Amino acid sequence: MNIIFLGAPGVGKGTLSHKLSGSLHYPHIATGNMLRENVIQKTTLGLEAKKFMDEGHLVPDSVVIGMVDERLSRADAKNGIILDGFPRTIAQAEELKKKIKIDIIINLQASDEIIVNRISKRRTCESCHFVYHLDFIKPNREGYCDKCSGFLIQRDDDKPEAVKKRLEVYYAKTAPLVDYYKKEHLLVNVDGSGLPDEVFALVEEVLKKKR
Ligand code: AMP
Repeated sequence: MNIIFLGAPGVGKGTLSHKLSGSLHYPHIATGNMLRENVIQKTTLGLEAKKFMDEGHLVPDSVVIGMVDERLSRADAKNGIILDGFPRTIAQAEELKKKIKIDIIINLQASDEIIVNRISKRRTCESCHFVYHLDFIKPNREGYCDKCSGFLIQRDDDKPEAVKKRLEVYYAKTAPLVDYYKKEHLLVNVDGSGLPDEVFALVEEVLKKKR
């Protein structure tokens, strides 16, 4: 099954899709993580993407589509995938449609107030990208990742000014995908405002009905 998580930045796509990837054994394809990895490695793609990411803008479609195409061509992507953060524009959705059959879009919903609060308390492992929340998903040792002992950081684009921009960009460029996928009868709305385990249970229920 090919699953897409859609929703505003900070709504919990990353946490849920990572967990789901563990239970379904599908690869978790998160374009934000892939781009950040390229930035750290200072690849040509990373150097091009960095300026857009730092300001909370989207990286140009051509760059992201090429990166995702390469990832989808690998053997482990043939029996089901979880896409997190892609597509984020209609142009990306159109390209994706040419490459794979999408089975379901899970549209996570929460108010801007909840989203801003979550992002301000989000800490991310610099090494493995696992995401923590200072209240709900606390690391055992403050400042360090439980999985790999990497440093926990606040991403530059999780700081207030960039978050404001990212939400604007989401409403302008990504939110139209809700109608786009509704028309294709693939979209299911899920209330993302609860605790991580509660939202995960809702997602599992939706997927059970689909299978
Ligand atoms: P995320 O970790 O998904 O919040 O993504 C972090 C940043 O990476 C975004 O604010 C964008 O700058 C960039 N990005 C991630 N996915 C995409 C995408 N599908 N299209 C364009 N830019 C993206």
